Amino acid sequence: MRYAIIGDIHSNLEAFETVLRDADVKGGFDKIWCLGDVVGYGPDPNECIERLCQFEHVCVAGNHDWAAIGKLSLSEFNPDAAAACRWTAQQLSPEDVDYLGSLPPVIEKDSFTLVHGSPREPIWEYLLSVSSARENFAYFRSPFCLVGHSHVPSIFRYTETGDCSFSPFKAGVGLVLGSSRLIINPGGVGQPRDSDPRASYAIFDSEAKMVRLYRIPYDIGSTQAKMVKQNLPMRLVARLNYGL
Ligand code: ZN
Repeated sequence: MRYAIIGDIHSNLEAFETVLRDADVKGGFDKIWCLGDVVGYGPDPNECIERLCQFEHVCVAGNHDWAAIGKLSLSEFNPDAAAACRWTAQQLSPEDVDYLGSLPPVIEKDSFTLVHGSPREPIWEYLLSVSSARENFAYFRSPFCLVGHSHVPSIFRYTETGDCSFSPFKAGVGLVLGSSRLIINPGGVGQPRDSDPRASYAIFDSEAKMVRLYRIPYDIGSTQAKMVKQNLPMRLVARLNYGL
């Protein structure tokens, strides 16, 4: 079985469609495992939810998904994120609201735990440091955990000595799943933040026991033009150029 692992689509339909096409070219997939933040920031929230729902998939809740339906306060959001979230809330159909409201914070699948932020705090915690990742290995039982939220492709490995190491998850690298427990972030589809503006996603091949990361250019200008048309904050428009 092959799973497309995608996170942080963030209402960026151009990036999402490009990833879907690329995943087809790279051998296809049977199901999608989505790591949350389907909406927020970008110009196409309804379209992204509808497109995701055309596939057999599971999806965990992200902070933007819950904030857009009022399940989470905007007080922790920066002003641009909050403005985009208020705009998103106005676009959602009743079906979209039901869908986002139905997303669970944690999903366990085979040897993976899926969360948006971290196993310890599934909605909000960013896993960006070795010290916080190390603590988080105590908060899930499966060998492997998939996270999004930081939009930075990452591999945290729990070592035999109880320590934790970090390495960036690089495009084209096949990560073989062995005996080490891992927390894996496939990066962000719709708003990458590792200084590489290309959309980021991974494919897990359960037979080969391998997760491979892909980076793929998409039509950033088209997404940006839609954002400008909707008066979404200019800082959110500009950051797509830089992958920040
Ligand atoms: Zn996000």
